[in-house]
Amino acid sequence: MRIVSFNGGKAGILINDKVLDVSKALKGINFRNWANYKYVRNLIEQWDEIKILLERILKSKHVIEGFSYNLNDVSLDAPITNPSKIICVGRNYMSHIEEMREEVPSEPIFFLKPPSALTGHNSKIVLPAESKRVDHEIELAVIIGKRCKNVDPREAWSTIFGYTILLDITARDLQRKDVTWFRAKGFDTFCPLGPWIVTKDEIEDPQNLNIELKVNGKVRQQGNTKDMIFKINELIRFASKVCTLEPGDIIATGTPKGVAPLKHGDIIEGYIEKIGSLKLAVNSFP
Ligand code: MG
Repeated sequence: MRIVSFNGGKAGILINDKVLDVSKALKGINFRNWANYKYVRNLIEQWDEIKILLERILKSKHVIEGFSYNLNDVSLDAPITNPSKIICVGRNYMSHIEEMREEVPSEPIFFLKPPSALTGHNSKIVLPAESKRVDHEIELAVIIGKRCKNVDPREAWSTIFGYTILLDITARDLQRKDVTWFRAKGFDTFCPLGPWIVTKDEIEDPQNLNIELKVNGKVRQQGNTKDMIFKINELIRFASKVCTLEPGDIIATGTPKGVAPLKHGDIIEGYIEKIGSLKLAVNSFP
């Protein structure tokens, strides 16, 4: 399934070029708890209960037609708008470590981005006046499906809900200047996410996906998720030692080589195999 947030954070399911309004469809079939499924985070939290119902709805042409919009007529938000946290990892691809002339880490280097940095497909990245160099980094994002702590790496796959694309926009000059990365990674719009979450059953091997990022149609970054230094299950193990992971939490898994600056007027397009393309404009003012 492809899960979207649209028109102000409402939960939807993408069916070809239609977006099904989940809470309206549930109301339409007289499901008494329909009001509890307004946001994608609610869907993830209650997935075991709601999945069977959604699969039934998706078989009914009548229900789909009654409660759907054309994809082109809705505005997509980040597919999850209110996660409890966005955990990112620095230096997780050798090709990126080499281009940055950094050391290979012995444990993952984690940092947080604030949920207020999230923005969705077809929106804008705003370049802040405080920075003279803002770089793009494309990353596979893992969406956590279950509350968990101290996860065994062999069990980590069962804690995942799905996958999407995350752009870890970075003020590189401020990252070098500041001791912590609050400013470098935390500005509003510095966390484009989407365009949708693909549920994990549709991606057989998340450690073998091609990644590509283009700016103005020219390829800047290329890689494959098989080249991660710390694999997804290890990242979940390390992160869940520190804090409890909640449904809807996002783990960004690092970027391959080719990071480079953005400028006003650029069009940036991130692609990950089996997920799709996340496209945004770059602006130097809101
Ligand atoms: Mg990054």
